[in-house]
Amino acid sequence: MSHVFPRHCHAQLPIAVGGEGCYLIDSTGKRYFDASGGAAVSCLGHSNDRVKQAIKDQVDRLAFAHTGFFTSDPAEELADLLIANAPEGIERVYFVSGGSEAVEAAIKLARQYYLEVGQPERRHLIARRQSYHGNTLGALAAGGNAWRRAQFDPLLIGVSHIAPCYEYAERAAGESLVDYGRRAADELEAEILRLGPDTVMGFIAEPVVGATLGAVAAVEGYFSRIREICDTYGVLLILDEVMCGMGRTGHLFACTGEGVRPDIVTIAKGLGAGYQPVGAMLCSGAIYDAVASGSGFFQHGHTYIGHPVATAAGLAVVQEMLEHDLPARVQALGGAMEAALRSRLDQHPHVGDIRGRGLFWGVELVADRAGKTPFDPGLGLAGKLKRAAFARGLICYPMPGTRDGRNGDHVLLAPPFIMEEAD
Ligand code: PLP
Repeated sequence: MSHVFPRHCHAQLPIAVGGEGCYLIDSTGKRYFDASGGAAVSCLGHSNDRVKQAIKDQVDRLAFAHTGFFTSDPAEELADLLIANAPEGIERVYFVSGGSEAVEAAIKLARQYYLEVGQPERRHLIARRQSYHGNTLGALAAGGNAWRRAQFDPLLIGVSHIAPCYEYAERAAGESLVDYGRRAADELEAEILRLGPDTVMGFIAEPVVGATLGAVAAVEGYFSRIREICDTYGVLLILDEVMCGMGRTGHLFACTGEGVRPDIVTIAKGLGAGYQPVGAMLCSGAIYDAVASGSGFFQHGHTYIGHPVATAAGLAVVQEMLEHDLPARVQALGGAMEAALRSRLDQHPHVGDIRGRGLFWGVELVADRAGKTPFDPGLGLAGKLKRAAFARGLICYPMPGTRDGRNGDHVLLAPPFIMEEAD
């Protein structure tokens, strides 16, 4: 009997024993094409020599030094490289071990920033429905995934949720894309005014929504209006790129491609590419300066922040990505992937929408195309699809639709950037 507490207590999972390029291999020798990179993690595939060597070298030199006492070469170098390629105004990097930790750090930094600058009444966070920002309590509270939140609701801090920018389901008949984007963004202004502009500290959104909606980018103009609203009311714009960042959309930082500048941005998954658990929260120089010249201490931390081996892996990942211009490769392969998906699925009676950016694609399934009616979530379609694909050696990431019918089941595809067109 296994003594592991698995996520799915009733499933008998195969044992993964190897990884080769885009494939994972189990203990029976069966090979699986990793079309979702786990959950948009394995951007360099499973056997990148440079990253493996960087980890080995770092362990030989120095495995761990607590950041209460030391900094380390890989953490410094990775921070420099990220900032050299970061969106305008972003100047500092705070390393953590994963996406939820990055979001927790972002929320706490937003709060601390307003304490440092003497606006303690700013305590509200606004987020969007059908979003996912992680599973720790702060990040879960920010997320708008009703199913994931449900049983923990009594433990969650109050966060307001506005609509996502989800054109397929929410643009009204006859409404132009521009008008729809404006209407969706203006929900933020209405919520700020409802809460009281002087009480709102931040707005958090995924530039391209990952797990909960399936690779949904905003329509043009949406994020520039969001930026304008944040500037008007002094609300910090936190962009969560844990899933869509690090080259996934064809840009190292997804917000660059979406034409929006954050005050705080979170990254994880693709940063360690699965080789090490590492994430980061990056912030503007203005935010850092407020802390540095104020209390001088960010009141938040974990034992493993800035872990030398994790940051050495992240450094090798980002170097590999930039030296081989993988974001450009992602854009090119993304075009091929879109064409392949559309040519096979566009006319399928149960495919409602195909959308994405780079190597980040979502296929939304519907019971009825014309009415965009989702399948009954009780059918468990997403789970069945996942198991059927897995049995055939394909790893993809199906997600159930919401119980309130706001969005249907979808399949997320996020393959490694090293895949070939033939794959
Ligand atoms: N934010 C986003 C946008 C995510 O997609 C995820 C994970 O899927 C997280 C945060 C949480 O990251 P982690 O699972 O590494 O804690």
